[in-house]
Amino acid sequence: MHLYESHYYGGAWQAPLGAGAIDVLSSATEAVVGRVPRGTSADVDRAVAAARDGFERWSRVSVEDRAQWLEKLAAALKPRVPHVAEAITHEVGTALSYATKVQVEFPIMMIGMNARFLRNATFEEELGNSLVVKEPIGVVGCITPWNYPLHQVVCKIAPALAAGCAVVLKPAEIAPLSAAMLADAAHEIGLPSGVLNIVFGEGKVVGEAIVAHAGVDMVSFTGSLAAGRRVAAVAGDGIKKVCLELGGKSAFVVLDDAPFEKAIPAGVNNCMQNSGQTCSAWTRLLVPRSRHDEAVALATGALAKLTMGDPFDAATRLGPLASAAQRDRVLGYIEQGRSEGATLVAGGGRPADRPVGYFVEATIFANVDPAMTIAQEEIFGPVLSVIPYDTETDAVRIANESIYGLAGGVWSASKERSLAVARQLRTGQVDINGGRFNALAPFGGYKKSGVGREIGPLALHEFFQLKAIQQ
Ligand code: NAD
Repeated sequence: MHLYESHYYGGAWQAPLGAGAIDVLSSATEAVVGRVPRGTSADVDRAVAAARDGFERWSRVSVEDRAQWLEKLAAALKPRVPHVAEAITHEVGTALSYATKVQVEFPIMMIGMNARFLRNATFEEELGNSLVVKEPIGVVGCITPWNYPLHQVVCKIAPALAAGCAVVLKPAEIAPLSAAMLADAAHEIGLPSGVLNIVFGEGKVVGEAIVAHAGVDMVSFTGSLAAGRRVAAVAGDGIKKVCLELGGKSAFVVLDDAPFEKAIPAGVNNCMQNSGQTCSAWTRLLVPRSRHDEAVALATGALAKLTMGDPFDAATRLGPLASAAQRDRVLGYIEQGRSEGATLVAGGGRPADRPVGYFVEATIFANVDPAMTIAQEEIFGPVLSVIPYDTETDAVRIANESIYGLAGGVWSASKERSLAVARQLRTGQVDINGGRFNALAPFGGYKKSGVGREIGPLALHEFFQLKAIQQ
């Protein structure tokens, strides 16, 4: 049981000013595994005051010292890896081995990488008679989702702290424990007070209070399109810079000359990672109409290899979904796919042998029309839509017919062909022929997938203001 009774701000655990707590449930057993306070706007007021105070001092700490603080934070998190991974496996349902590597070790590595990005950054440039200076933007409100809870937090706080900003963070209420453990680590190393501040609670209460607060200079939000819209509106009212990392409906375009036996399983694995609860997941598999049935057979074969079960079991690849609400939402989309006439070829409901926990069978729909709801809306669960296309031009058109533009993939026997298609996709990321995730590359969306970029050295620049001094 992970019990946190306080918020963390001003360098100390602070008693909540309101009443009430949020239970954290295990997605596999539905049992309570943790608790955090249900924050109020009064808690936010105190945390923002602490952050303003922290910013005054932190923004004057030297680059080298800030880099060393980040390295100390990463070092303090390392012994906590099993503890954090266990909490996230409970909260999100991610299989433990994957959670350990991707949900915990990777973000810890990213904290260290930000120290390097900071040391390599330039802060001043002469342009004609101007000295252009990069300065930290101030206090940053960070609001994060539950699907990769520590990763999403690190994507924001590591570059923000590196840039010299102070942070007020509200982690997702479904998966807040890793943020609390991050505060434990920050406290242990004696990170200067007011630099990292955390208020737990609900989006509409604590999240909106952070976004609206006059003491917050910038908002960095990751979550759904609906909440992102609200955040952008409230921040817009205060004329604040906003970074938004929102949803996706990414397409994987398999060209007619691709090695299907490699490409299709890669597409299925991408779609199903973290049980489909990944913003960049390739949830639309676009295949030539002439090879549609072959692709569907390969996809169902690849899916059968992904064992569903207890996320703490070493054989498990697919755990449950994170919450009952998420499970019901995904089941609703599966029902809609059926009723709109898509062909269900695998999965399609709750697994009969898992009555407890938020499990949903990994599901494939074939012969999906690009206009169907399951091909247009973000499902955020283990549901793949196979969409046939006639020509390469057609494939690009279908891939781009989405309100989203976060990620995508292309596979062809020819790298040049893949690259040519990749250049035509209106998305922030494209992997060609199995190209791996790169922690140096900027990540973010076109269209309604968001505004701004995270990850890699470029992310640091989101947290700077530019000042021009004429001389
Ligand atoms: P969500 O929008 O419900 O919640 C995200 C966060 O915003 C939570 O902390 C929540 O409490 C808070 N929030 C909700 N309403 C708010 C409001 N009015 N004001 C301020 N804060 C508010 O999203 P979720 O269900 O936690 O996460 C899933 C969504 O996140 C999916 O749409 C997914 O695609 C997206 N996501 C995007 C990325 C990316 O990098 N683009 C990464 C991960 C997840």
